Amino acid sequence: MPDRTHEPSLKSWLETANEEGCEFPIQNLPYGSFSTIGSGRRLGVAIGDQVLDLRAAVETGIIDLGQYSETLRSPTLNALMAAGRGAWAKLRFSLSDLLSSETPSLRDDQTLRAELLVPISETSMHMPFDVSEYTDFYASRHHAFNVGSMFRGPENALPPNWLHIPIGYNGRASSVVVSGTPVRRPKGQVKGPNEDVPRLAPSARFDIELELGAVVGVPSDHPLTVAEAFENIFGYVLLNDWSARDIQAWEYQPLGPFQSKATATSISPWVVTAHALEPFRVSTPDREVPLLPNLQDVGPMLYDIALQVSLVPANSLETVISRTNYREMYYSAAQQLAHHSSCGCPMRVGDLLGSGTISGPERENRGSLLELSWGGKDPVEVDGGTRSFIEDGDTLILRGHAAGDGFRIGFGECSGQVLPATDIRATDR
Ligand code: CA
Repeated sequence: MPDRTHEPSLKSWLETANEEGCEFPIQNLPYGSFSTIGSGRRLGVAIGDQVLDLRAAVETGIIDLGQYSETLRSPTLNALMAAGRGAWAKLRFSLSDLLSSETPSLRDDQTLRAELLVPISETSMHMPFDVSEYTDFYASRHHAFNVGSMFRGPENALPPNWLHIPIGYNGRASSVVVSGTPVRRPKGQVKGPNEDVPRLAPSARFDIELELGAVVGVPSDHPLTVAEAFENIFGYVLLNDWSARDIQAWEYQPLGPFQSKATATSISPWVVTAHALEPFRVSTPDREVPLLPNLQDVGPMLYDIALQVSLVPANSLETVISRTNYREMYYSAAQQLAHHSSCGCPMRVGDLLGSGTISGPERENRGSLLELSWGGKDPVEVDGGTRSFIEDGDTLILRGHAAGDGFRIGFGECSGQVLPATDIRATDR
């Protein structure tokens, strides 16, 4: 069967899905977990300004996944992901058909429409999947060079292994939160360059990291090829890996970041499927040194996804502080997943892989405040002032989309407001 789900001419009977600039046209169909007042968590698919209730859709029989129908009654995506690629494709084809302007079954049934569709504005969004494990990488050439230059000088910016393996560390699944969750400024051990001993203090250099998160949908128990790894990824989310730079600077050698990255990692509530992103595949940049065979690309495995970060101070207006693109990455998520599995590490349904901060070549393309303000030397202009790092009350918003011919595959928003650190005595009580 030819795959028509990406065709630019495809329209939905839901008019808001066809409007210019809509994040969720019929070509997108991202999945999330939502609730409404008086009704519990369930899976939905975003279309225009509405959510189609997948649990209700399967209960009314208008969506039928056969032996996998039960997966749509779960409040998270893990069961659907575990059902495998055949079920993922079947669901996408079914939804594309159901929502198409050509298909009358739901289009012409006002009672059923009222039962299945909920305005996004009336929903609360939850974690779209249970995060099994969380791994974060360091795979943008520009980011690694910028940060390395600040920490070790430009001549030692890239560690000797950087061009040969996608460097990563094991993070904490427990710290991943959905967009909209407030983030408490962490307190941790810091030591300034002129201090003899460390002290416990609220982080004074709390930061964002603009990333894309890859969601593993197919489990594995053997070293994956890059091609296998690509096929095992279900979809992608926006990801903000909140980072305390002063805590990081003191703790990161020799085993990498630990508590500096443990406060929270925010993800967007909608998982955009790899299937929806298929027309936007692009190749990684030219290799500076050849990769070993198990990490070599076997086709275009990055995506052309425009990304931006906004900062909104308390009671102030929003300022876009960064614009970049996922195609700037040196390593794709498939290469990262292949490397992750290379020594035998089993991968699970719901594993989350952070791309690493995505920075581009120019100042405005930098994906963290550390880089944007160059360690605080060159603060960023925002509404009502400047920023070197995040101040209490600031809200940070990530956005992203792939631009098609007359439509866009949007990711929605990934936002979080930073709250003041709690008083040490208050937590001791
Ligand atoms: Ca990170």
